[in-house]
Amino acid sequence: MKIETIEAIRFTYPTDTCHDSDGHGHPGPWTDTTGAMLVISCDDGTTGRVIAAPADVAEPLLTQFVRPVLTGADPMRHEQLWRALYKWQRGSAGRLTDRLLAAVDLALWDLVGRKTGQPVWKLLGGYREKIRAYGSTMCGDDIEGGLATPEDYGRFAAWLVFERGYKAVKLHTWMPPVPGAPDPKMDYAACAAVREAVGPDVPLMLDPNHWYSRADSLWLGRRLEELKFLWMEECMEEASLSSYRWLSSNLPDLNILGPESMTGKHWTRGEWAAGGACDMIRTGVWDVGGIGPSMKIAHMAESFGMSCEIHGTGAGNLALCGAIANTTYYERGLLHPFVDYEKPRAYQKRIDDEMDEEGCVHLRDEPGLGQALDLDYIEAHRVG
Ligand code: MG
Repeated sequence: MKIETIEAIRFTYPTDTCHDSDGHGHPGPWTDTTGAMLVISCDDGTTGRVIAAPADVAEPLLTQFVRPVLTGADPMRHEQLWRALYKWQRGSAGRLTDRLLAAVDLALWDLVGRKTGQPVWKLLGGYREKIRAYGSTMCGDDIEGGLATPEDYGRFAAWLVFERGYKAVKLHTWMPPVPGAPDPKMDYAACAAVREAVGPDVPLMLDPNHWYSRADSLWLGRRLEELKFLWMEECMEEASLSSYRWLSSNLPDLNILGPESMTGKHWTRGEWAAGGACDMIRTGVWDVGGIGPSMKIAHMAESFGMSCEIHGTGAGNLALCGAIANTTYYERGLLHPFVDYEKPRAYQKRIDDEMDEEGCVHLRDEPGLGQALDLDYIEAHRVG
């Protein structure tokens, strides 16, 4: 089996999520947006697919970097192909991103799963058949009845837990350009309102503004210790490992989770674990260049006696959750009172992460990543 073609199909679909000037998603009017599907095909007809951001799999990047490495190669040789692309990153003037590595890696895993007739989560280790999800909110906003006030967060968290069945909730609070943001006292008020609304026993987490000072982060962290939060993530610039080491050592009763957006793949995560900069390690397939480096991070975390909490939604991250033992939750979201998360997008026959009434997402016994893509829709809405 040899790889023959690598193609990114661009298509339009409607969305009711809009993005602010800092890139945070909020509810908005329905508009058309563009997605992409990376398709890797082999000479025996086997294909692997993954949905990606169009810019991450732009045609010039496929021509310059991906096709020269993949064309004619054996798709089973993940580590060799990943390293060939990784080593090209340095000389690519920043064009060959970790997100492109991730898209290729995910499509290859989907392909291998389809070829072998096995779900990817089983090929990677197959630790569990289902996992609890936490409801992960959108960032705060100034929409009336949305996520504009601490009371809004409390009301929404109560709905997530008592009506929808989530066993844990994570808040993303207000960030610029929302007026008044960021403000650690507002973050604390929202966290206190959520704790009050869901009671003392529901695990809660916070992902606040990412550029707080040490002083603001410590003040907020101490309040979260009082509220018995499970973790706080990315409250400061993650490039400053010393700041996180300082924060972790000053917050004995709150787990610090990281790094999430920091570059450096498994090497950075190793430095954070060895350097005592966090209590739990973060990875996500789109953050570190795919499933391969994420598995290295999960195993490294296990050898430090740490959990590896998976960042973000989607079939790739869910497969990772199913594969490994040392993770606690699947992150499901982002959620908002005015957005219907359960409704498949136009290019999906079903969402990747359907959740039962007990708050668990089940790993599917289907070959590949377990995405149910509507290929007819994608073909009919093809652009470019
Ligand atoms: Mg985060």
